[in-house]
Amino acid sequence: MSSTDNDYKTLEYRRFTIYMVAGAIMSIILVFIFSRAITSITARMTYDATIEVKKTMLKENVENLISYLDVCADAYLKDNPGVSDEELEAEMKEIAYDKIYSETHMDGTYMWVQKVLNYDGGDDYAIRLIHPNLSDTEGDYLSTNTVNPSGIKAYEEELEGVKANGSVYLQYDFKKLGSDEVTKKETYSSLYKRFDWIVCMGVNIDDLDHYQEQARENMKVSQAIILAAISATWLAMLYLLFHAYRSTSGRVFARQNKELSDQLDWDTVTGANSRITGQKLLEESCLRVRGGEETDTVLLMLDIDYFKQFNDNYGHELGDKVLKSFVDAVKENVRESDAVIRWGGDEFIAVIHNIAPDVQPVLGDRILNSIRSISIPELNGERRITSSVGFTYLRDTDTDIKDALQRADAAVYAAKEAGRDNWKIS
Ligand code: GH3
Ligand code: MG
Repeated sequence: MSSTDNDYKTLEYRRFTIYMVAGAIMSIILVFIFSRAITSITARMTYDATIEVKKTMLKENVENLISYLDVCADAYLKDNPGVSDEELEAEMKEIAYDKIYSETHMDGTYMWVQKVLNYDGGDDYAIRLIHPNLSDTEGDYLSTNTVNPSGIKAYEEELEGVKANGSVYLQYDFKKLGSDEVTKKETYSSLYKRFDWIVCMGVNIDDLDHYQEQARENMKVSQAIILAAISATWLAMLYLLFHAYRSTSGRVFARQNKELSDQLDWDTVTGANSRITGQKLLEESCLRVRGGEETDTVLLMLDIDYFKQFNDNYGHELGDKVLKSFVDAVKENVRESDAVIRWGGDEFIAVIHNIAPDVQPVLGDRILNSIRSISIPELNGERRITSSVGFTYLRDTDTDIKDALQRADAAVYAAKEAGRDNWKIS
């Protein structure tokens, strides 16, 4: 294979490899972006779902306490008719106090209560009744102007919320139970109208951030595994595809090459050498004869007699068969090393070496006989194949193959003129 072929193949492989590698990189990037997006969405969804569960828990606890206090208040009233509002409230506060303090958890889940003194808000709008985390501030007055660590007026938001809807969910920073550490809390506040109390409950949600972070970290590992698996699959595919492509393209290339050179070297109808090859061989022989390296080289030209009639009477396909059999018959009389060449249509030449002048007429007769003996079943013995043959020796005075070809052609013409089915020498 020539170096141009190899250059072309290398270029093809290079281009193919570039496409494959680019494709692999692109898909790995896409998978990476996609899996990151999935991780974020999943983490967010888990977070939201957990918050919803916590919110439900908060609401149930607060509303259960309010219902419980209401039942207790009704029962107390029944047992103690005529009791004052203040006394009833103080009794209920005791019950709430015991319940809240007994149910306070160290994980930051606890309830607290404040009593609204002024629904319009402002300083001293409420008084802190129960707060297990800030027990020393129980009895303190509260202000809606108080700003919490995250810059939010939480009391104001809470008051507006319960005034509008009876209850409100809030999320803000808070002091952790039993410590000064500030933590993010989800809270639920509900107005217990009977005593103007706001009953609240909060739960830390910092942990959730932590869990979310943990989930992200865990997913990073699986993400890396998925990415590695996809990359490995891609690389394996790349390798296999590249090899498949190389062997296929190599085979296709070799076949095309062979077909092409066959077309150039051989005539597919007759199996004779092509005109291009013949021309080359003839030129080489001419050169050698001119150089004195070669003598007794004969150029033979053959033309089938009335060949057109075979086509016309028996069809083109039979015409092809005649051409093929004709070449076989000529080849029978020459050496393997001598070339029989299709010069065009029903015209052939042969370059035959070492034919002494006394052998040449014998060769001529033998060739004519072989041609006459061709038997093609479809012809049913109705027609014989004959040829007009022209001989010429290559001469050291020939400046070009044209000189020899012209003489051979003239000899064929003479053979035709002499009635065909014979040979002439020029
Ligand atoms: P002549 O004795 O004067 O040589 O007469 P001829 O009929 O052989 O000569 P002519 O040049 O008139 O006819 C040659 C024919 O060969 C014409 C052409 O259609 C036919 N021919 C050329 N190539 C092929 C081929 O590959 N297959 C077939 N079947 N016919 C071909
Ligand atoms: Mg002819």
